[in-house]
Order: sequence, then structure tokens, then C-alpha cells
Amino acid sequence: MTKRKFDIAKFRSIQTPFFYYDTDLLRETLTTLKVESKNYNDIIVHYAIKANANPKVLNIICQAGLGADCVSGGEILAAIAAGFPVSKIVYAGVGKSDWEINLALDKNIFCFNVESLPELEIINELAMAKKKIANVAFRINPDIEAHTHANITTGLAENKFGITIESMDHIIKEAYKLENINFIGLHFHIGSQILIMDDFINLCSCINRLQDQLEKQHIVVKHINVGGGLGINYDCPDQNLIPDFKTYFNTYAHHLNLREGQQLHFELGRSIVAQCGSLITRTLYIKQGTQKQFVIVDAGMTDLIRPALYHAYHQIENISSNAPMEVYDVVGPICESSDVFAKSIELNKTKRGDLLAIRSAGAYGETMASQYNCRQLPQGYITEDL
Ligand SMILES: *Cc1c(COP(=O)(O)O)cnc(C)c1O
Repeated sequence: MTKRKFDIAKFRSIQTPFFYYDTDLLRETLTTLKVESKNYNDIIVHYAIKANANPKVLNIICQAGLGADCVSGGEILAAIAAGFPVSKIVYAGVGKSDWEINLALDKNIFCFNVESLPELEIINELAMAKKKIANVAFRINPDIEAHTHANITTGLAENKFGITIESMDHIIKEAYKLENINFIGLHFHIGSQILIMDDFINLCSCINRLQDQLEKQHIVVKHINVGGGLGINYDCPDQNLIPDFKTYFNTYAHHLNLREGQQLHFELGRSIVAQCGSLITRTLYIKQGTQKQFVIVDAGMTDLIRPALYHAYHQIENISSNAPMEVYDVVGPICESSDVFAKSIELNKTKRGDLLAIRSAGAYGETMASQYNCRQLPQGYITEDL
């Protein structure tokens, strides 16, 4: 196993726990993304802000020319502050509140991804009050099972997200009646951490069928937004530091029938930022149990909730030791039994003060941190900060 280079000397002087973002890797990932996506004429990749909204990370992503995918008013403000052009901001969410819709209208974002008829009517009303026309795409729930954790699938009929296929025609016709609504596209997002390309192929087939159906009614859709969801390799991050964007984009190129003049949109979050981030934590104590030994670290589920919330696996390395391997459970200090980062994993023999890197933590880490137990939020540092 190759260890990624961490500058331990610099880490030692920083208050732990903290997130460290390797910006060389982030830039390399963005370059690869750009190279693999530019084979297709007219596509825009929107970065899903919720994966990581650290301003320094956002700024680098924005400089690479991506658009932004937002799911709240706060994210719209974060995207604009980081420099994302409003003409490349899309806004999804089942519960957009009035101030958020008004903010999006005031800022002239590119498009609302609308998730219900009542929401459409409110956007129309608020746009009318401002004498504006809102661009909308409808988020269609394609009833496709994504092969990922149950808590992160979004495309099943049972789900709260989107509009059912059956009601698509109806809502489009309603949209045409509303004066302050400009219907421009269809939006989809079936889930997250998807590594099986068949799931995306199923989505393409569904979109193809819907497009045929609309074409018969002479309905033209300028924009097709297929969402995000491409997964990453949590088991062996060093073997797949950059996700396989080539296969991902090729899958869409081969299976999605775009019509003349249609623009294709993607909304990728995790696959762009996950591997560049590590949660750096300090070993507080080694505690001998009856059957096992625990490494108690100063990071907890308040800093990285994925293991507690999804039973997610993150590779953990002792970056300050080369001693022989031993087996440990790695746990945090929070007063919850689920505050466990890993069970029965091998680490170089660990002692108080050793720094551990919890890998692949660049996505849904810092953004999901909380202050439970009155803890401080973890800081995020990029390579240039050290
Ligand atoms: C979360 C989300 C994304 C990004 O998902 P990833 O799995 O991080 O790529 C894209 N679109 C919408 C609507 C989302 O909610």
C-alpha cells in the first residue's frame, strides 16, 4: 500500500481534528473531468455544492469553469461568493422556501429544478411579483433503483424527490399556462455513490422513452440534466484517486439519445472532491478492551458522520508510524455508541499523539459537521495554507 504524502511536520502544529484538502489532486481531478467531458459538444458540469462548500475548495472548482448545483439559498450565496457565474447555477430541492426562491429570482440564476406542482405555482407567483420570468426544469423521478446505500437513493417512486413519470405531461401543460414560468428542461438525479454503470444506462433508457413521449406531443426540451451520483473507491483510495470519468461520460454518450440542439447537464459532487480530502485526527488514548484494543481519537461523528449515518467505510492510516501492524477499533469521543470510525482494522502500532488520516473525506464531511456535544466545528485547510 502506497501512502500518500502528508506533510506531518506541518500537520503537527495544527489544532486537530481538521480537514486537509490536497489541491494538487483536486486540480488534477478537475483537469481529467474537463478532458473526458469535452469530447461532447454542448455539456455543462455543475458542481454539487453540498458535497463540500469550503470557500477555498469552491474557488478552485469555480476557476476550472464548472457551474454550480445548489440545494438551498445558503448554497446559492456560497456559490456566488466563490465566483460561480449565476448563468451556470441550478437550484433543486423539495422544500424551497419563499426567501430562497426570491433570492434565486433576484440573482437571476439559470434554472430552478422544480420538484412539485405547488412549488411551480409559488415560483410563478413570486416571479410575477418581481416581473420576472423563471426558467424551470422538472425533476422527474424515474423510479430507478440505484445500487447504493438505501439512505442515498433518490430515484425510487417511494422517495420524496421529484415528479412521477405519470404526472410529467400534466405539469408541463400547467407550466405552459403560467405566465412567469419558462419551461426549459428535464432534470434527474437517481442517487449517490453509484459505481454500477447499468444504473446510469437505465436512467438513459428512461430519458429516451420520456423524450419520445414528449416529441409526439411536439414538446421541445432544450436542456437535459442527468444529475450526478458517480461513486468513488472508498476501499482503496490510492488505486483510484481520480474516478473513471471516461467510462461515466462514455456511458451517457452511448446510451442517451440527445435531440438536435439539446444541452446536456451533469451535477457531480462526491466524485470531484471526495478523494482530495482527509480528516486528520490525533490519537488520545489506546484503551485495552477484553477482546480488542481501541484507538480513541479526537475526531468524532460530529466531524465526519458518514460511518455513523451510513455505515460508510473510510480507509484509515496512521501517518506518524511505520511500526508493525496491529488490529484496532477506531472510535471518537462523542457520547454515542455509533461514534465509531472503523472496527477491526489494521494500523501501524499506534500510540498517544499519533496522527491518523481518515481518507476519502472530501465529500459530505466538513459540510455535514455539527456542534453536537458543544464541540467546535473542524477547520478545513488546503495545501497552500500549510
Ligand atoms: C447531492 C446531489 C447531487 C450530487 O450527488 P453526488 O453523488 O455527490 O455526485 C446532484 N444533484 C442533486 C439534485 C443532488 O441533490
